[in-house]
Amino acid sequence: MDRAIVIPIQGLDDLIGILKTQGYQVWGARECDGALGLGPIATASDLPRGRIESAEAGTVRLVDGPRDAVFDHTLPMQGLKRIVYPAQERLYSTGPDMAVEEEPVEAPPLAVIGIRSCDLAALDTLATVFEGGPFVDTRFSQRREALLLVAVNCMRPAATCFCASMDTGPRADRGFDLALDELIEADRHVIIVTAGSARGREILDQLSGEPANKADLKAARDGSRACAEAQHRRMTDGVEGLLKRNYDHPHWAAVAERCLSCANCTMVCPTCFCGTVEDRSSLDGAEAERWRRWDSCFTLDFSYLHGGSVRTETASRYRQWMTHKLAHWHDQFGTSGCVGCGRCIGWCPVGIDITAEAAALAASDESQGTSGTTAHD
Ligand code: SF4
Ligand code: SF4
Repeated sequence: MDRAIVIPIQGLDDLIGILKTQGYQVWGARECDGALGLGPIATASDLPRGRIESAEAGTVRLVDGPRDAVFDHTLPMQGLKRIVYPAQERLYSTGPDMAVEEEPVEAPPLAVIGIRSCDLAALDTLATVFEGGPFVDTRFSQRREALLLVAVNCMRPAATCFCASMDTGPRADRGFDLALDELIEADRHVIIVTAGSARGREILDQLSGEPANKADLKAARDGSRACAEAQHRRMTDGVEGLLKRNYDHPHWAAVAERCLSCANCTMVCPTCFCGTVEDRSSLDGAEAERWRRWDSCFTLDFSYLHGGSVRTETASRYRQWMTHKLAHWHDQFGTSGCVGCGRCIGWCPVGIDITAEAAALAASDESQGTSGTTAHD
């Protein structure tokens, strides 16, 4: 088993100090406009201690939590996606001499504290997309390699979490350099620090702490188990087959009556990777740039082929998103495209809930015995 030590809660500042000494910028969850963002932290006091999300379909707000925990909150509004795959970036530029210059990647060493298991799974999922095929996105790879990930095992879920049913949490079992379990007991407030990589072990060796004993490790595992049991949302069993059987189900039109096609769900989703490439030129034509930016299957332009868009109806765009995430992603990448983080539920302005939509399809699939389908886009 990987080495684990117990440090007092004040030791978080020692950890941040060691990371900085090793040349890392240090980021963590920060309160931002009443919710959580991800950004630079100077000390542990920048973390949202004592605060938790009050999250439901269509709403996410930070509120005071029931205890003085540093990590009882769960997810910032965006995960690691915007670090490894920025929302927009220049790829190339050229001037009057027509020499094309590739934009260098800026990827300074970055340590992120507080990453949850669902977001680690999401990073793996993105890596499958960007690195798993014959063409590797080296911009993604350089940024990913610059990351040092300090995971936190969740002790409480947000109401929108359903990672347990997606088998992506709430306990991180891989993909981290260090993992933290926060234990608050009657007479102590401590963090169990576990190394998950050689880089993590090197940092752990510089921390002052006692070896974690069996009781500490059991308390940590029990906390994660309780967190899984407290999740009241779950994804419908067999959703891949369910969606593939129901391309023409009337429920898609029912969702479309509520869906604004605003694309919020795809922007906050830690695995949605669709992008577009734009060429921009100066008015005199002397300079030109090629940019890549996030796109979304909810926009009309996204499915534009010569002469018009394929998915003109909101119903077909929502169906495309959900069916790709939960069904065809398996065919393309051998895994689900959803990690159960629940962001799309909380950040949807009209509260559309991917778990509820799957359950609604399943209910009528069972009662009507819907089977077979016709063409889909
Ligand atoms: S499901 Fe919600 S967040 Fe997504 S496009 Fe529709 S209204 Fe926007
Ligand atoms: S589809 Fe929703 S719950 Fe699933 S990974 Fe994306 S944002 Fe999270």
